Order: sequence, then structure tokens, then C-alpha cells
Amino acid sequence: MAEFDLIVTGGTLPDGRVADIGIRGDRIAAVGDLGGSTAGRVIDATGDLVSPPFVDPHFHLDATLSYGTPRINASGTLLEGIALWGELKAQTTVDEMVDRALAYCDWAVSMGLLAIRSHVDTCDDTLKGVEALLHVRERVKPYLDLQLVAFPQDGFFRDPTARANTLRALDMGVDVVGGIPHFERTMEDGRASVRALCEIAADRGLLVDMHCDETDDPLSRHVETLAYETQRLGLQGRVAGSHLTSMHSMDNYYVSKLLPLMAEAGLAAIPNPLINIVLQGRHDSYPKRRGLTRVKEMQAHGIRVGWGQDCVRDPWYSLGTADMLDVAFMGLHVAQMTSPEEMRRCFDMVTVENAAILHLPDYGLHEGALASLVILDAGDPVEAIRLRPDRLAVIAKGRVVAEKARNDSHLSLDGRPARVRRRHRAGE
Ligand SMILES: [Zn+2]
Repeated sequence: MAEFDLIVTGGTLPDGRVADIGIRGDRIAAVGDLGGSTAGRVIDATGDLVSPPFVDPHFHLDATLSYGTPRINASGTLLEGIALWGELKAQTTVDEMVDRALAYCDWAVSMGLLAIRSHVDTCDDTLKGVEALLHVRERVKPYLDLQLVAFPQDGFFRDPTARANTLRALDMGVDVVGGIPHFERTMEDGRASVRALCEIAADRGLLVDMHCDETDDPLSRHVETLAYETQRLGLQGRVAGSHLTSMHSMDNYYVSKLLPLMAEAGLAAIPNPLINIVLQGRHDSYPKRRGLTRVKEMQAHGIRVGWGQDCVRDPWYSLGTADMLDVAFMGLHVAQMTSPEEMRRCFDMVTVENAAILHLPDYGLHEGALASLVILDAGDPVEAIRLRPDRLAVIAKGRVVAEKARNDSHLSLDGRPARVRRRHRAGE
């Protein structure tokens, strides 16, 4: 009998080590030099990057792949997107949402994206989206970890039945408590919504992830309340603020007080660079604000930051391919994370940092971890961001779930090489 079910040989790990990975069942059984071992199947990853899977900490599976239904977002703003989603959710069905979500999960698997935190709208008396995504969570469980956030998208207080429906969604098994304080009618209601929702999470022992201050208004300061309530309720390390775009526009003195409070509360931050660069600053002339939150400044204060995808082909964003490297690529540019260490960190922000935000157990490329990994046609993490390359193989919980043949370009140029790969290492 073979020692391993599967061995991935000769790959370069994100930390630069070259190692074989031996898999037994759904676990990594050994990492190191496994020459001479026997296995049911061997995948040669020599020269290629072998990474733990990509993780997306912020998505909307109930709305994905609906672009153009019933119409497109003409102004390109968050608020028109919310109105458009209201039209769509009135006419969509559970089956149709399941189909769209499963199709997106297929895309995700093909890109090595094997864990997704998705918000699900709870401002709907039928809770169609909740029913659909709970079904999808079970369907994809053998290969993709889906974490659902109860998201009262029309406002916890602004929508008259949001509270009852959000509690019902949590009773049905939704994992995380969400919110949208900047969409409530007043700053005071926004503050009260953060307080009430954090109390629900504390009572039920759940994580919190709020859309927070997704606005260019520098006085939108709900993140301050989120940090305060996290501290007051003992939720340190269990709360994330998504977007936080108002921080881009805030007064610097105020931010110098805010960042230590966020760090003290153990808040995580989830900027969504593809969407924030598209939605924010729409009311500006020039100079036009970019609207991405203060990523490097947060990291300098020890605040965990992960890049999120947020949207693909939906009322808010018309593009997207489930490639977390697209997200890292945009984030790197907008946050100007261009030193070698910062570029490298952008890769961690779509893998290990996001896994920590989701509290994913047994994540990583160590003995005993879940045998989930992706083999990329790149030499290292920075090259992966630059190329956003093919995923040559994706392994989920011990099973090969996606494969793609290496796809080099063939040149027909006199005196030039016949094959071009666009890989490049310093000095070569
Ligand atoms: Zn969102």
C-alpha cells in the first residue's frame, strides 16, 4: 500500500522553501523531502508556487452573476446599487440564486479560492437568500468553506422587519452578525445599530463583520463605535469592519486617535479595493478621492487587514473572475504597497491573513493541516500577483478538484525564442 494518497513534489512554498507535500485522506501528512516515498498519485510542481488556498473575507453570493438584471447601475454608486438590488431581490427565486451561487463557486474552485465569507441579505420577509445560501453552504462543503453573514442591507432600524428577520436568519444557522450603520437614517441610529448587533453576537457567541463607513463622508465614524462595543463586550479578535472607506477622508488628527483604539479592540479591517476604487469618490470633481481605507497605516498599528473581492458581475460591479490575485493586484496599486515586503504582504492578505479573519481551523501548509492547496504557474508570491497566472492544480481537502494545462504562448518571430512565459526573476 502506498504511504500517501497524493504527493505534490518540488514546489516552492510562499516562504521560499522548496518541499514535497504528502497527503493522506483530507490531511497534510508530511512536508519536506519525501523522495523515495510511494503515493497513489504524484503531481510534479517543480519550479511552481504551491500555496494554501485563497480566501475571500467579503463577498455577496446572493447577488453575484446577476449583472444587467433587471438593468445596470447607471450612476455607478453604492446607493443606486442598493436600489437595483431591491428590484432584483423582489423578482429572483431561491432556485435561481442557488444556480448563480453554485456557478460562482465553480469559478472560485478553478481559481484556488476555497473559503468565502459571504454576506446574505436579511431584509426580506421570505429570507429567500438565506434559504438559498444555506443550501449552497451544504452543497459545497466537501470542497469549499462558505461562511455566511446575516446582513440587514436595508438598515437594521431603517427597515421595519430587519431585526426580526436577522434574528430568524441566525436561528436558521447563518454564522456571523453583519450590519450597515452608515445606511441607517441618522448617525445616532447607526451607532445604536452597531451596539444592538454586537450585543446579539456577544449573546450568541458569534463573530461580527459589518459593512462600516462605506462612504466618502469624513464624519462617518461608526468604526469608533465598533471598536468601543468590541471592547465593552469582550469581543476582541472576533470583529471585522468591512470597507471603512470614510477613513480615507478623515481628519489626520482624529485618525491618530482612532487607529490605537482599533488595535486595542483587535478589530480586523477588510478593504475591497476593486469595488472601493469604482464606487467611492463619485461625487468628487478633481482632485478625486480614491476611497480606499488606510491600509499601511493600520498595519503599522498591528491591525490585521485582509483584501476582499466583494462583488462579481452584480448591481455594484460589472467585472470580476473570482481571482483573489486581481484583488491583491488592485489593492497593491491603490494602497501603494510597492516595496518587496509590502508586495509579499499583499499575497498574505488574500491567503493567511484572510484565513485568520475567518477563524478557519487547520489552514496552512503544515503537517496536520487540511490538505487544501493551489499550484500556480509562478515562481513566488510577488510573481503570482504580477502574472495572475493559471492555477495548474487545486486540491481541496485531499482531492484534486481542478486542473489546467500549462499554457505558454508560442511566438513566430525570426531570431526570437519559440516560447514565451513572462516569468522573470531578478538578474535573469
Ligand atoms: Zn459588501
